[in-house]
Amino acid sequence: MQTNELQGVLKGQKIAYFSMEIGLNSQIPTYAGGLGTLAGDAIRSSADLKLPLVAVTLISKYNYFKQKLDSTGRQTEQPNVWNPEKLLTLLPNEVNIQIEGRTVKVHAWLYVCQSITGGAVPVLFLDTDFDTNNQADREISFYLYGGDERYRLKQEAVLGFGGVRMLDSLGFQIRKYHMNEGHSSFLAVELMHKHNQDAEKVKELCIFTTHTPVEAGHDRFNYELIQDTLPTIDLALLKKYGGQERLNMTRLALNLSNYINGGAKRHQEISSKMFTGYEIHAITNGVHSYTWTGEQYRKLYDKYLPGWAIEPELLAKVDLIPDGEIWQAHQQQKQTLIDFTNQTSNTHLDPEVFTLGFARRATEYKRATLLFTNLDRLRTINKTNKFQAIFAGKAHPRDEGGKHIIEQIYNYTQQLKIDLNIAYIENYDMDIAAKMIGGVDVWLNTPLRPMEASGTSGMKAAHNGVMNFSVLDGWWIEGWIENLTGWAIGPHPKETIDDSACFTKEIEDLYNKLEYIILPTFYNHRDEWIQLMKNSIGKIAYYFNSHRMMRRYVTDAYL
Ligand SMILES: *Cc1c(COP(=O)(O)O)cnc(C)c1O
Repeated sequence: MQTNELQGVLKGQKIAYFSMEIGLNSQIPTYAGGLGTLAGDAIRSSADLKLPLVAVTLISKYNYFKQKLDSTGRQTEQPNVWNPEKLLTLLPNEVNIQIEGRTVKVHAWLYVCQSITGGAVPVLFLDTDFDTNNQADREISFYLYGGDERYRLKQEAVLGFGGVRMLDSLGFQIRKYHMNEGHSSFLAVELMHKHNQDAEKVKELCIFTTHTPVEAGHDRFNYELIQDTLPTIDLALLKKYGGQERLNMTRLALNLSNYINGGAKRHQEISSKMFTGYEIHAITNGVHSYTWTGEQYRKLYDKYLPGWAIEPELLAKVDLIPDGEIWQAHQQQKQTLIDFTNQTSNTHLDPEVFTLGFARRATEYKRATLLFTNLDRLRTINKTNKFQAIFAGKAHPRDEGGKHIIEQIYNYTQQLKIDLNIAYIENYDMDIAAKMIGGVDVWLNTPLRPMEASGTSGMKAAHNGVMNFSVLDGWWIEGWIENLTGWAIGPHPKETIDDSACFTKEIEDLYNKLEYIILPTFYNHRDEWIQLMKNSIGKIAYYFNSHRMMRRYVTDAYL
């Protein structure tokens, strides 16, 4: 990029969007999961809509890891070192923050997310890996969600304090600061210093989106650690706004933001109960339509619904597309996925066979093994109407429970081998996600309620006419119309039901709906099935996209 172009992108009044992880594409592996891909989608939509946004994150140079699975399904992690120089531009500016009594120098790499509309969003990746810093300080920007508490605290200090200072150093005039999750809430502390401790002023400037529906998920730091790591920080201020006992990053953000929201209506309800006394809004998440629509569907939408990529509402007119073409586009994308899966995972999946997909971070609450609760039942179902499944997902390197889940799936796959084909694709990332959500027949989601704050992969699937079959949690409560946009697994959240009865109903729905509704419709009533696929596009994708989401942020939060 030319210097004058750079200056153009870096100028003017902006909304600053802070996120610990951002998923722009698989060549910039600075994301771990849904939080990062959401941030990436928000940025892409902002570029399309020409919103004046600037994004701030960490460079996470050595992560996120590459996943390999051995013959027993045991995950090993290989470093995923990437070279920012190829894709990003190092800016000359340098800011300082104080860590453990040392001055740590922070630089920023620039990536410009450009849209065909002419819009452009600068993304700043903060980096401490310079020879003016000592080794420990250089490593602060290496590992996303790596290291211990102290390491995490330092990262959050670089993001929050370093980010605000870098924006100032670059000459941006920031109208609002948007914290995508509590990792960046030190930015509000920095703003308190800038604005003479005027909390009302800071609150006017800050927007906070929470993504964590359980107390235990929120970052907390004890004050001894803080004093030791960030000796120049104003402890009284932290205690006043972030908690007397320990610093709770979510509380800090809640207390210093005028606009607070959850990523789905259900998550708003849960958060309002968890954090009484705050007005919490809902802006339901969405995904970037063009990014998550496969090549064949893009062609189809271009032909019948021109303009859809910048106005995804047009997808509501999906009935303009002939059934045959919907099916053909699907079969082509399915073939691509199945070829890829067979080549990489040593399986023999068949493109004519009904295919279930499940891919998520391998973490306990996502319950990736729920499908395998009763192996005999799966064999019986498969006798009448054949099906196959594709799984993927990484476990966090320190999450033994998550790694065990992958091993269990491997084990079940072996046990079912003679009857059923089940593949596990290694190294789930945005590219594999795009292939999977674009090529399966049904996208399965079985989280433990109410842990799925929103979830977004089902919205990606809907953009490709893929049906959702999911526990009623997060966004799916809003997208679901039984037998029209997909199917529910388990009770509605309004029903009062104890845990064991809930589990029983979930298992019943999972197997019964698969056996008696989903598979027979797929094989015996193809015309009905294609109508369902159209519903997924016309009643889900038209709404659950990040263009709608960002427009809501503009009208409800940014203005
Ligand atoms: C979309 C996406 C996610 C989030 O999926 P959920 O269903 O919300 O868990 C995670 N990882 C990748 C690579 C994705 O593309």
